[in-house]
Amino acid sequence: MDLSNKIALVTGGASGIGRTISLELAKRGATVVVNYNRSRDAADSLIKEIEAMHGQALAIQADVSKYEDAGRLIETIISQYGTLNIVVNNAGITDDALILRMSEEQFSRVIDTNLKGVWNVSKHSAKVLLKSGYGRLINISSISGVLGNAGQSNYSAAKAGVIGMTKALAREFAGRNVTVNAIAPGFIETEMTKKLPEDAVKAWANQIPLKRFGQPEDVAYAVVFLASEQASYITGHTLEVDGGLVM
Ligand code: NAD
Repeated sequence: MDLSNKIALVTGGASGIGRTISLELAKRGATVVVNYNRSRDAADSLIKEIEAMHGQALAIQADVSKYEDAGRLIETIISQYGTLNIVVNNAGITDDALILRMSEEQFSRVIDTNLKGVWNVSKHSAKVLLKSGYGRLINISSISGVLGNAGQSNYSAAKAGVIGMTKALAREFAGRNVTVNAIAPGFIETEMTKKLPEDAVKAWANQIPLKRFGQPEDVAYAVVFLASEQASYITGHTLEVDGGLVM
């Protein structure tokens, strides 16, 4: 799938799944803007890696949970490249606790990053995507937003909200041929899932029909497909990449 001449943004693109998404988009010829919040070194080394394979990439710091930061991020991209074609809302955090123990701050922080962050970046990139002639908005949700997960009332709410927002924006953008889709990963091996206790990992892996956690590439390949010309008739969809866990 050829993405040459496309400008792509990956939020939280310096580590974990976002890093692999950035690499896979760059391998297909896209110019990749890697957004990071605090991981400057990781972002810089990823840019070097992409440039070493003759790709084009740029790192831009922004906290997507902040409306003004998201605005500055999109403005910088437009001033650098003049357009934006592919936006991958990947940045996300967890801060788990049962509701009896979860603080209001824990709830708000996860909603601000995982739900409002997606809205902030979508809001600021809407105009340029609609004008670009080739627009793809891809939001990384989670099966936690589909199934609900105990200890994740904040995260499940945010990720379910992302699926609703995806459908609303798919309807808003359809008249201009901009597709909007979500991906709901299951358990993927990254820093985020390294925090899980070993017995929880075994118990979950047992429930997955394919009997294993996924790799960041599994999600990145789905992003590449949804970003491609070949996916132009798919919009408002949530693609589960979960080894069959949700069915
Ligand atoms: P990760 O923690 O490895 O990476 C998340 C990235 O987002 C980091 O680079 C982090 O710095 C960045 N980030 C966090 N807050 C940010 C902010 N306010 N502004 C900008 N960047 C910010 O996590 P991951 O596992 O790679 O997760 C990537 C996405 O996939 C997240 O949205 C996550 O919810 C989702 N997801 C992950 C899994 C999994 O099993 N790992 C499963 C389902 C969904």
